[in-house]
Amino acid sequence: MNSYDLITIGAGSGGVAASRRAAGYGARVLIVENDRVGGTCVIRGCVPKKLMMYAAGFRESLREAHAFGWDGLDGRFDLGRWAASKKAEIDRLEDAYRGLIADAGAELRAGHAKLVAPGTVEVDGQAFQAGRILIATGAAPARDAIAGLELAMTSNELLDLRELPASILVIGGGYIAVEFASILAGMGAQVTLAFRDRSPLRGFDPDLRVRLAGALEQRGLRLACGVALQALERVGPGYALLRADGTRVEAAAVLNATGRRPTTAGLGLERVGIETAPNGAIAVDVESRTQATGIWAVGDVTNRRNLTPVAIAEARAFADTEFGGRPTRVDHRTVATAVFTEPSIGTIGLSEPEAIALGPTDVYESEFRPMKSAFAGGAQRTYMKLVVDGRDDRVLGVHMIGPDAPEIVQSLAVALTCGATKRDFDRTLAVHPTAAEEFMLMRAPQRRTAA
Ligand code: FAD
Repeated sequence: MNSYDLITIGAGSGGVAASRRAAGYGARVLIVENDRVGGTCVIRGCVPKKLMMYAAGFRESLREAHAFGWDGLDGRFDLGRWAASKKAEIDRLEDAYRGLIADAGAELRAGHAKLVAPGTVEVDGQAFQAGRILIATGAAPARDAIAGLELAMTSNELLDLRELPASILVIGGGYIAVEFASILAGMGAQVTLAFRDRSPLRGFDPDLRVRLAGALEQRGLRLACGVALQALERVGPGYALLRADGTRVEAAAVLNATGRRPTTAGLGLERVGIETAPNGAIAVDVESRTQATGIWAVGDVTNRRNLTPVAIAEARAFADTEFGGRPTRVDHRTVATAVFTEPSIGTIGLSEPEAIALGPTDVYESEFRPMKSAFAGGAQRTYMKLVVDGRDDRVLGVHMIGPDAPEIVQSLAVALTCGATKRDFDRTLAVHPTAAEEFMLMRAPQRRTAA
């Protein structure tokens, strides 16, 4: 029988979460995937990237270890050996995802799914029916920000490199661009990071943006910023990026990290009356319903907050609402996020300018040399900021750049979700000696902005 309660298109973070949750409520679920099971995060995103970040981080750790008294740790990095271990780990995780789907009682089918009529999905020529359809097809690298960008690698190919290029140009100023620039420099490549703005990470708190730019330059990365980018072209065995001021940046390899586009082409959306935004995104309401009755969409394909935990939360909210009898909505306002650069960033809530735009704001800051790096003679600095509502003392934003920032901010996200005030931070006893304790020890505001 080709009839289901739910057909999910895409077995990535969102699709797998929704399918498992719906099957747990007793729904008959079919999940269709045209590539590897696990999606972007597991196969070519968060997981392999973080494994690459760990690999790159050992260069600085080895230097620090020497300063702490260790000898005989000098070595050469073998990207090929890392790639083989990474492949084994990703294969293991893909198997685990297949196991999770099977254990939940959902059916998995390999193939390209497209909508052919309301309630009907075709998978490589075979039709399947369902009362509800969930589109969770994710996003893919955009390749048209400037002419010639199709010559460059994307993060997909970069994560499969087996040899490190001597020099690499990373095009883009978002979190994926800065993360790979930082990782490649850690591994020993000469890195140039090119983007149009003055600082990377548009939308993040300005104090994090300038500090990250400074820290990357201090590590030897070259920033080619503040000038519009025009075209990429081949030059001999390498590449040249042409900029609007007539300057050129050359490198042996190029990574295109200019952004991602929702995967909606070839999905048959026009057959069911779903229109997309110019970038391909599917518009949905607060319960992830599309314009078409019986069809929902979650995750990167909706271009809301393109992060794995958000895709999973949207997916579970859909399944709880539609199959579990528990109407649930995702609050997209307070999403904690990290940037896995060296130094790393953790951030949640409003930036300082965002808070000031809404009313009186108190800003608390702390900046110091972290103990481990300072002992080892490093130049690293940690910077922390609390953005507080000047009217009711509520903490609106927590921002940090420095070692362990993502881990620290994840924990503080609980406090923000609970509506903690600065007074709550003050009456919380410190864990000493840690970096995180500085968030409890900020006494007077650095700046007070009246409404
Ligand atoms: P995906 O996980 O992309 O899954 C979509 C699936 O649908 C894919 O497997 C695709 O093959 C399949 N598909 C598409 N079309 C069809 C079709 N017609 N038929 C059948 N199957 C189809 N997020 C974080 O939270 N933290 C991070 O550190 C982080 N790092 C990242 C690093 C990189 C390099 C990248 C690229 C992304 C990163 N992300 C990170 C973002 C995160 O990976 C995505 O937000 C998340 O994977 C979105 O989940 P999704 O379910 O919407 O889509």
